[in-house]
Amino acid sequence: MIVTPELRPAQIGRASGDFYTIATLGSHSALQILKGAHDEGFRTLAITNRKTERLYRSFPFVDEVIAIAEYKDFMGLVPELEKRKLIIVPHGSFVAYLSLEEHKKMRIPYFGNKAVLDWEASRELQRQWLTRAGLTVPRQFKTGAEIDRPVIVKLYGALGGKGYMFVRDSKDFEERAGLLTRNKHILQEYIIGVPLYIHYFYSPLTGRLEIMSMDRRYETNVDSLGRIPAAAQENLDIEPSYVVVGNQPVSLRESMLAEAYQMGENVVRVSKEICGAKGLFGAFSIETIITPDAQFYVMEISARIVAGTNLFIDGSPYSYLYYTEPMSTGRRIAREIKNALLSNSLDVVLDDSSVV
Ligand code: AMP
Ligand code: AMP
Repeated sequence: MIVTPELRPAQIGRASGDFYTIATLGSHSALQILKGAHDEGFRTLAITNRKTERLYRSFPFVDEVIAIAEYKDFMGLVPELEKRKLIIVPHGSFVAYLSLEEHKKMRIPYFGNKAVLDWEASRELQRQWLTRAGLTVPRQFKTGAEIDRPVIVKLYGALGGKGYMFVRDSKDFEERAGLLTRNKHILQEYIIGVPLYIHYFYSPLTGRLEIMSMDRRYETNVDSLGRIPAAAQENLDIEPSYVVVGNQPVSLRESMLAEAYQMGENVVRVSKEICGAKGLFGAFSIETIITPDAQFYVMEISARIVAGTNLFIDGSPYSYLYYTEPMSTGRRIAREIKNALLSNSLDVVLDDSSVV
């Protein structure tokens, strides 16, 4: 469906701010989402815990704060929120603190398609999705004995790289990975290259895919190992770890941009074949490592706003090419909801379970 909404200032207040509140959990990319919602004329609600309550209250664009004891208690608040005219914008903390079942049980209008969550949450299904879209994924090994090159042992879930282990070969795996592999895990070929996280936005209203921004993660301690020469590391017994603590901006060599764009188009196209007609829409990110032969290896897809977009609350070099105003991914989401309201097509941007 292609809709080109006419935006007139008088309508904007009426269609968005007066009627809907944009709500999210106070963590991850909440500040960006709520600032963007405010800039587009919505009321904003942050659901915080006792520790973060004061922080979120300190920002003038946060109209309302509801504090709960812990984020995992969020479901207790849902009946109350369901009675209000709210739209939830999910981010990584929803995935980290709520189960898949809880996500689906919730009937609050929800920006995005929850059917995508099944394909994202299972590493096997995600791999099928990416492969079907023609993306190159790292090799995977079923057992330790099969390992014929360095691998990364990855646990399930959005844990920010926590608990991952670099393993040199199958002997190394036998010796060290025992405890870790009691949890659900995969053994993935370790790709040596530079990481690049590409942030996209796909508009179901206009059918346009936009590259919003890009980042690389700042991970401790793997990003500091190069500061100690290999010879000096030899007897130090240092294990690389991949715990994310922040993000750095990147702009991609322009001759590689067309391929990055096409990867985004391909995952959107395939999502419409596998996750119902709506497929993947809104913000998403493809996590890649690029090798010296300029090959993008895709490690993962995140089907919603990622925290790397926090670098670009004021817009990015890419978003500026589409919008000559500061356009964060958070604001882009609010703009899409506003355009949907103005063109009477809110159902197009909400999960089917929550269409009002
Ligand atoms: P948090 O609420 O900070 O625990 O975030 C929830 C999840 O989002 C974490 O487990 C991480 O996987 C991910 N995450 C949070 N912040 C970042 C970041 N700056 N860069 C990448 N991923 C992040
Ligand atoms: P992920 O949970 O997939 O986002 O991975 C977290 C971090 O682990 C990435 O940012 C990389 O630094 C590292 N990593 C994940 N998969 C691989 C891989 N196949 N090869 C090399 N490094 C990886």
